[in-house]
Amino acid sequence: MKRNLIGGEWVEGASVRLNINPSDIDEVVGEYAQADASQTLDAIGAARHAQRSWATSGIQARANALEQIGSELLARQQDLGALLSREEGKTLAEGVAEVARAGQIFRFFAGEALRSGGEKLPSVRAQVDVEITREPVGVVGIITPWNFPMAIPAWKIAPALAYGNSVVFKPADLVPGSAWALADIISRSGIPAGVFNLVMGRGSIVGNEIVNSADIRALSFTGSVGTGRHLAQMAAMNFKKIQLEMGGKNPLVILDDADLDIAVDCAIQGAFYSTGQRCTASSRFIVQKGIYERFVERVAEGVRSLSVGHALESTTQIGPVVDGDQLDADLQYIEIGKQEGAKLVCGGELLERRTRGHFLAPAFFADASGEMRIAREEIFGPVACAVPVGTYEEALEVANDSEFGLSAGICTTSLKYATHFKRHMQCGMAMVNVPTAGVDYHVPFGGTKGSSYGSREQGRYAVEFFTTVKTAYTQA
Ligand code: ADP
Repeated sequence: MKRNLIGGEWVEGASVRLNINPSDIDEVVGEYAQADASQTLDAIGAARHAQRSWATSGIQARANALEQIGSELLARQQDLGALLSREEGKTLAEGVAEVARAGQIFRFFAGEALRSGGEKLPSVRAQVDVEITREPVGVVGIITPWNFPMAIPAWKIAPALAYGNSVVFKPADLVPGSAWALADIISRSGIPAGVFNLVMGRGSIVGNEIVNSADIRALSFTGSVGTGRHLAQMAAMNFKKIQLEMGGKNPLVILDDADLDIAVDCAIQGAFYSTGQRCTASSRFIVQKGIYERFVERVAEGVRSLSVGHALESTTQIGPVVDGDQLDADLQYIEIGKQEGAKLVCGGELLERRTRGHFLAPAFFADASGEMRIAREEIFGPVACAVPVGTYEEALEVANDSEFGLSAGICTTSLKYATHFKRHMQCGMAMVNVPTAGVDYHVPFGGTKGSSYGSREQGRYAVEFFTTVKTAYTQA
């Protein structure tokens, strides 16, 4: 049984949770300890105790630890990628790539630890100097979802540690394996006991203690809108800094002048890879009438040819849905789409494979309208719809008519429309002729409207959330 890491000790849980493989529900990936409220408080206490020494340990020590974590992740990308794919269900290639990305993120922030800086300015008073420096926030709580079990924890934990904070990390219930493997690597990186703590367990118990603790000074969360809204309200009670990454209903606009091959590729990759379980997935294609028929036909052809199966089989392109609840939700939306009058062009049925898994044929709807629920609500599965429109202006209006604003794409060969789209699309990430999902690790990630709250994650912009600014005045 894999245990929690609290104050540098591997601690038995109050209960145990089985980690089940969604490609083969008869396979138990492992048994994982579940922390209770009092163990969570222990972890917070240990993190508070250890934080000052980490903050004053020097940037070289922090860079060395992060470099070591990153290097081990990169060296072990095959075996850890396989573990990730077994517990989450994305294909082995996707699992390996995600672990490699986590490694790159740690190495990036190893460098950032060394590049911390400040400003020295003259004061308006002649004898006085002003210095502006960045300091750690203190103890950071990190709560993550199941869909990127390595990369999302990495892009929160790495900057937290790089800038001298200590961490209490609660992964999603469905994917403790990747979280434990990451904690194991971090525990051997030379960081002092208590600086990094792993508390696997329920959101309503472990997560609740994290958000309510006055000792946690900042909380970085990725997950659903409902939980995010709740956490923001609770965090306000003790003035915690908060950073939320939530849902998306990302549009991909296809104009008449698009390169059809590129558009089809962006649509299929963006909507269905990783089983559509990405907050940046494009789940609505907004397509100009002149190219609409050809686009729908080519996407349908592509979707039909996708091979759905066990995540670890080399021919698999689309792995299973993560669990039974998510599968039920996906199937329900497919029913809703049919009842709303959209045309189910292909997919949407359960598939039988050699093993018992949550296999769903990717579902592609045509002739949807921007008003339909399948075009407005985040489904978080391999389900996408095409909405026909007349003009670019109409496409932009439909694209912007959403409570979300994470990622948005356009396929066009027109510089004029591409430029206009980048300026006027309400989103955090705008994509021209590339899929809405699949982002770089060294640049900011985040959205507008109901998708994100707080400052940006990743790249150099992460410093904003994981530090606080001090202004010092000195009279010589
Ligand atoms: P998802 O649909 O991705 O599972 P959730 O918002 O339900 O989205 O979960 C994201 C993370 O938030 C998970 O780690 C989950 O355990 C945690 N969580 C869920 N409910 C709460 C809560 N009330 N307080 C704190 N954390 C929570």
